[in-house]
Amino acid sequence: SLTLGIVGLPNVGKSTLFNALTKNNVVAANYPFATIEPNVGVVELPDSRLNKLAEIFGSQRILPATVSFVDIAGIVKGASEGAGLGNKFLANIREADAICQVVRVFTDDDVVHVDGRVDPLADIEVIETELILADLQTLDKAVLRLDKEAKNNKDRRAVADAAKQAQELLDSGKTLYSQKNNIDLPLLKELQLLTTKPFLYVFNADEGVLTDEDRKNELRSKVAPAEAVFLDAKVESDLQELDEESAMELLETIGQTEPGLHSLARAGFETLGLQTYLTAGPKESRAWTIKRGDTAPKAAGVIHTDFERGFIKAEIVSFDDLVAAGSMAAAKAAGKVRMEGKEYIMTDGDVVDFRFNV
Ligand code: GDP
Repeated sequence: SLTLGIVGLPNVGKSTLFNALTKNNVVAANYPFATIEPNVGVVELPDSRLNKLAEIFGSQRILPATVSFVDIAGIVKGASEGAGLGNKFLANIREADAICQVVRVFTDDDVVHVDGRVDPLADIEVIETELILADLQTLDKAVLRLDKEAKNNKDRRAVADAAKQAQELLDSGKTLYSQKNNIDLPLLKELQLLTTKPFLYVFNADEGVLTDEDRKNELRSKVAPAEAVFLDAKVESDLQELDEESAMELLETIGQTEPGLHSLARAGFETLGLQTYLTAGPKESRAWTIKRGDTAPKAAGVIHTDFERGFIKAEIVSFDDLVAAGSMAAAKAAGKVRMEGKEYIMTDGDVVDFRFNV
């Protein structure tokens, strides 16, 4: 499944956040046969629609979609030159599908900042610069090789040209993801460039900032269109030890109405380009994760590969229509249940029953 790699300068709260994510780990409880990697934190994507479905269908349990975060060793200035954990860091980050940068906004004289000051935007730039430099290094080597290959094989010309274009964009200080409409990124896939991955920013803040909408909007606008999440990593970690009522009370003390991990799960899901569809029955109401733009057979394949291979059709009702009708039978009677074929592109919130041959 797709993962977000957690990066950030030292002492910004990465471990604290990761702690919260692993304490929250839902995999063990809900997916007993899944293997749990020590450096992966899995959180549920909150989805109140599942509760409603469970009511309608009398489901015994609810299985939300999940989002996975991988803990990646710290990055420091000079990482691209192999300083600190440089190379290991770069190898780990290549495996992630998106980059989740934790940025320190909290002030605390007891927690040393590597550069001696709390400056979120400067920190973001440090990390971005390191990733850009790492990509330029990769490209320096690749461009010569690709040029040679293109001389012998015309099919390689497009890749060689894209690599050169990527060099120019990175040289001008831009990440490749931010230029995804100007350059054919899929052509560069084989080079595993770091800045082709989407970014998500987690601003680790204290109450003063969490309740300051102007400050949050300012930071949000600096990183847009990337997603921005504001939370207090320490509080998020503490929340995991509490029952729901006490957790809500603790959140209220920092002016919050829901756990930051919920916003993080949503933003992570969005950043990875994912969406869900729903299935429901007396056994369970469940959200399934697919890529935006996936067809019905592809979606069926997430449940079981046989479902994709033997796909016949999908019986689909939108969540809203189903709830308005009150039951599947009523939705059918109202003509709200559709039969969709192989070409159908899934919509978020489709409640689905697949028909297939085995
Ligand atoms: P990492 O190096 O990025 O993994 O940072 P850590 O998670 O180890 O945090 C560094 C220090 O900052 C620890 O002493 C944490 O307790 C503290 N810390 C983390 N998050 C917060 C926060 O939101 N507020 C405050 N005041 N301290 C924090």
